[in-house]
Amino acid sequence: MKNIIIAIDGYSSCGKSTLAKDLAKKIQYHYVDTGAMYRAVTLYLLQNHIDIYHPEMVEHALQNITISFEYNAESESQLTLLNGENIEHEIRVNPRVAGSVSEVSSISAVRRFLVQQQQAMGNNKGIVMDGRDIGTVVFPNAELKLFVTADPQVRAQRRLDELTEKGQNTTFEEVLANLEKRDLMDSSRLDSPLKKADDAIEIDNSYLSKADQLKLVLQLVNEKTSVSLS
Ligand code: C5P
Repeated sequence: MKNIIIAIDGYSSCGKSTLAKDLAKKIQYHYVDTGAMYRAVTLYLLQNHIDIYHPEMVEHALQNITISFEYNAESESQLTLLNGENIEHEIRVNPRVAGSVSEVSSISAVRRFLVQQQQAMGNNKGIVMDGRDIGTVVFPNAELKLFVTADPQVRAQRRLDELTEKGQNTTFEEVLANLEKRDLMDSSRLDSPLKKADDAIEIDNSYLSKADQLKLVLQLVNEKTSVSLS
């Protein structure tokens, strides 16, 4: 099996990360959640009271930010570290992070800073990366590109279930409003807007089980990685 780059893009809470994580585990590839990187930058700016509406101040602050990932064997999951500190839980449940991340990720200096790191992570291929601009900007030559979609109501319910499980007290309407706001900002920003790459394969998983989705994607990976004998 040859090593490839698998780019997975799509709207907020459409199950990209779950798919990317399960796929990477199954085929023993590295997994990179780029949304966690934008969330980590956002958390740093909020914690340090940096005005996100002043791109020059944000750009200056980037030099103090180091983001890394660490595998946690106990929870069998990846943890996001900001300057060495585990912020995994905080970036998922803090509503201020969810409320500001799309604004922060529209700043070109932030995108340059993170895209450069993401591209370096793909140097040796054998990687599954999920986000909004992976197939269009980070790895335009990725061997396999997927664009995942799902009905907004279905996505909001999934996200609500996730937050409730993590102990957050919120409502369906609040979650749906945040998703719709982020989708709109992500797809209408000037720098690297969220859009399907021309050569990406679209998967609508509104009514597809996780297992069936993974099966479908494994077939696609197989087609791309099997070395042709002819
Ligand atoms: O994937 P997740 O929902 O965690 O991403 C959070 C936010 O980070 C998105 O709403 C988007 O604004 C931003 N993002 C981005 N480009 C990426 C990944 C995430 O702009 N590649």
